[in-house]
Amino acid sequence: MPSSSQTRKRVLSGMRSTGKLHLGNYVGALDNWVRMQDQYECFFFIADWHALTTDYADTSRVKENSVEVLLDWLAAGLDPDRCTMFIQSHVPQHAELHLLFSMITPLGWLERVPTYKEQRENIKDRDLGTYGFLGYPVLQAADILMYKGDFVPVGEDQVPHVELTREIARRFNQFYPLNGTPVFPEPQPLLTPAPKLPGTDGRKMSKSYDNTIMLTDPEPVVRQKLKTMVTDPARIRRSDPGNPDLCPVGDLHKIFSDAGTMAKVNEGCRSAGIGCIECKSWVADALVNILNPMQERRKKYEDNPRLAWDILEAGSAKAGQVADATMSEVREAMGMSLEYAPPKSSAAK
Ligand code: SF4
Repeated sequence: MPSSSQTRKRVLSGMRSTGKLHLGNYVGALDNWVRMQDQYECFFFIADWHALTTDYADTSRVKENSVEVLLDWLAAGLDPDRCTMFIQSHVPQHAELHLLFSMITPLGWLERVPTYKEQRENIKDRDLGTYGFLGYPVLQAADILMYKGDFVPVGEDQVPHVELTREIARRFNQFYPLNGTPVFPEPQPLLTPAPKLPGTDGRKMSKSYDNTIMLTDPEPVVRQKLKTMVTDPARIRRSDPGNPDLCPVGDLHKIFSDAGTMAKVNEGCRSAGIGCIECKSWVADALVNILNPMQERRKKYEDNPRLAWDILEAGSAKAGQVADATMSEVREAMGMSLEYAPPKSSAAK
């Protein structure tokens, strides 16, 4: 009988090792991952090499940042018995596959990736004119194809990266079929719902805007951040009616509040029947309800960091087995296997 891991489709996804996570990371990815654990065979990796593509000058916090990401994953409900979690650099086969893919990936494919231009224009405080930065979609292709993933959960803006991965797989398969069959399947993007999550200043929640609510923020901090959050500018006075559809706090309600609260917000805001302070306290209640159990789960690992490291080691070992199997196929397909083979001329005799 096939094992459940053989019958489930495989999902591969990663997150940069940026340190502690915020609500935007939760709503944009993590919450979906937690739900995927039972539906798919999931491999989730902490992309520390990817973090180096933009933050290469100071590596003093990379390892610590990776562990912080793991703690937030565990806090959010990723379960090492139901998915495989590991750090990218702990499975060095990713680097080998990246190197081989970099041989066959035309430069033009990389230069036209939309995020390449965008980030080079937007990030001015670092020199991104590096080989590693241009090539990071190739590393991403190696990360995905190594596990022969069926699906890659992504937001709309990441679809071109999955398309590039598919193109690289196709090119590799064309050049190097293994006994007439393709080595790599072409993974599909799995479009995941990622509702708009504003930060406290109304812009997209992001560490670089300093407008985040962190998964680790204690209740008083969450309430304080909410208090200073921007609202519908039409509500200057308490008696001015507002519109939750034009208010960042309204956006948070839509994601985190139940239908009853949402109805009270809609009615009370539009009729000026409620004040913003009251409205914000309701969304704070909803957030605290979500964050409290996460912070309790996190504490178990904070108190015993070895436990978290053991999870990473077990995850790397499992991922490494899959990676070894893929790499021996890759090497064989390219005629570069590690097995002894007699010289071709004497074999022909
Ligand atoms: S009542 Fe709520 S939704 Fe309306 S403007 Fe104030 S904070 Fe925003």
